[in-house]
Amino acid sequence: MALGSSQRFGVPLGYGGPHAAFFATSEAWKRLLPGRLVGVSKDAAGNRAFRLALQTREQHIRREKATSNVCTAQALLAGIASMFAVYHGPEGLLAIARRVRLLTAAVAGGLRQAGLPPAADAPVFDTLKIDVGDRRAEILREAEARRMNFRLFDAQHIGISLDETTTEKDAADILAVFNGGKPPALSVGELAEKAAPEYAAPLARAGGFLRQAVFNGCHTETEMTRYLKRLEGRDISLTTSMIPLGSCTMKLNGTAEMLPVTWPEFARIHPFAPLSQTRGYQTLFRQLEEWLVEITGLAGCSLQPNSGAQGEYAGLLVIQKYHQTRGQAHRRVCLIPASAHGTNPASAAMAGFQIVPVVCDAGGNIDLADLRAKAEAHKDDLAALMVTYPSTHGVFEEGIRELCRLVHDNGGLVYMDGANMNAQVGLCRPGDIGADVCHLNLHKTFCIPHGGGGPGMGPICVAEHLVEFLPGHPVVNLGGEDPVGAVSAAPWGSANILVVPWVYIALMGGTGLAEATGMAILNANYIARRLEPYFPVLFKGRSGFVAHECIVDLRQFKSVTVEDVAKRLMDYGFHAPTVSFPVAGTLMIEPTESETAGELDRFCDALVAIHGEIEEIETGKVSPTNNLLKNAPHTALDLAREPWDRPYTRERAAFPAPWTREHKFWPGAGRIDNVWGDRNLVCTCG
Ligand SMILES: *Cc1c(COP(=O)(O)O)cnc(C)c1O
Repeated sequence: MALGSSQRFGVPLGYGGPHAAFFATSEAWKRLLPGRLVGVSKDAAGNRAFRLALQTREQHIRREKATSNVCTAQALLAGIASMFAVYHGPEGLLAIARRVRLLTAAVAGGLRQAGLPPAADAPVFDTLKIDVGDRRAEILREAEARRMNFRLFDAQHIGISLDETTTEKDAADILAVFNGGKPPALSVGELAEKAAPEYAAPLARAGGFLRQAVFNGCHTETEMTRYLKRLEGRDISLTTSMIPLGSCTMKLNGTAEMLPVTWPEFARIHPFAPLSQTRGYQTLFRQLEEWLVEITGLAGCSLQPNSGAQGEYAGLLVIQKYHQTRGQAHRRVCLIPASAHGTNPASAAMAGFQIVPVVCDAGGNIDLADLRAKAEAHKDDLAALMVTYPSTHGVFEEGIRELCRLVHDNGGLVYMDGANMNAQVGLCRPGDIGADVCHLNLHKTFCIPHGGGGPGMGPICVAEHLVEFLPGHPVVNLGGEDPVGAVSAAPWGSANILVVPWVYIALMGGTGLAEATGMAILNANYIARRLEPYFPVLFKGRSGFVAHECIVDLRQFKSVTVEDVAKRLMDYGFHAPTVSFPVAGTLMIEPTESETAGELDRFCDALVAIHGEIEEIETGKVSPTNNLLKNAPHTALDLAREPWDRPYTRERAAFPAPWTREHKFWPGAGRIDNVWGDRNLVCTCG
């Protein structure tokens, strides 16, 4: 196995994150890998196509037996890092690496001359650890005067790192800091000449790398821009049409919210910058924490977890510590409803809990009798209940307070999965309902873009009695010393992207947030009513309404599956809703407040039209195997094929709705062969 970070691949530091790390393993361990894996497969026409591979290892399928709880990860940052490699290519990367190493070696040489040899004898790349003895205070004073930040390991050791933006002058300045403020005896150029230029065997790389065409053809801005645009064209994103992914809350990522992410005052802050240099960030953290605490009705907040699942893990550790300090370490049972998101059981398993499932009744609600029975049966070892509200079935569960009371009465705490906060913000609060801990998906409700699978942020809010157990951190530079419960190396997780929810909340204000929630619920109910005559809405509250999302049932059809409908929606220019979660054979639709009535209608029109196409199949008018749905999605290549031998016209395949003539989104691959891809796992492309 090998693991590393993409920090050397062009990702700004952003005061600690977001950041992509990577993890590679040999064939033998591939099925144990955590998280998402993109693999190669082929589509119905035999063309190469990419897809998520080996999903049967993952939390949404394997639940507590999954290889990890990872759902949202760092996809966008992985993309940034790979584009850095595409732009520079192998030769560019080598040139960068050689220069950084040479400069580091020059600094090491200068330090040796100043009587402060770097601590390790091992070959160095860009980082030095220096034993400064009793000169620490003097050195840090010199550094501060030049606004330079060093890593503080302990009272005696300081760390420095160089990168491709470090100049010869910077290197000379660093040396002056260690030399009583005076320039070093030899210039950086002279020091570099004396430095050993290359790694010796066995560290020196023998073979080439990045030989694929993509890394060897985009070294000008013109070519790079075209390449990026080509990739973008294969993406169906919110810039094309609504993405009604239930539970994922794909809402507007406003430009005003996003702009500050790139400001150097936020992006180019080193994670070890002293608190005195980051007062803006500190204010932002404090205000955001206060706002989230107010929104959830709880008492304390940690901005450390980098995703919802990591928030779950952090929150469960808080619950664990609470029980431990009360002499109740044996409380390890975690009740999880059948309808829970897969991350819930996976996180509970990771945190060492014993998972006891609770069933749901015919109305989609948690079965109160079953919960009571299980809470009472485990009253001596009950640790927690994990519950989503409104439920993943898209209804405001009426028994929610009763559920919380039952758990408390039997010695447990309530963990609320806040992924559905878009239905609560400004209207009701987890703390008032009875939750002790709640994570918030800032990449859902609070406008951080999903990034194709991250970055996200999953801070937790906790009730008064749990505040003392919030995660600590060990970063000495930032006043940390207590790593207990830390779930991330950075004390405030992906600090850089916290500006997005800050701007969102600041611009919306309390009234605006409540109005957005109301609109999200209204939109979901509008869709439910419009689709009901065609596809039954599976769960509703007693009032006949749904919450901010609705589940439509496709199980009544004999000849088409929910997957066929999802694929056919691509021909209409839409991303599919959430498929088969939390109920197999259904679609979970979440429109959010960001969509206009016109867009909601366009989406409903597409589904109604597909219903018409299904009817033709169900009534035997067209073939059950060779039809518009089974052959979807239709690529441009597909349609150009001669002779055209399908029992429908090309026009119906590609232009099924009027808006597709105005703007056509062309799917890049036809129906993908999932099984073939899993059997022939390939994660690199030649
Ligand atoms: C998205 C989601 C999660 C997981 O959040 P990540 O940030 O992807 O880890 C957990 N629970 C529910 C209900 C969700 O919708």
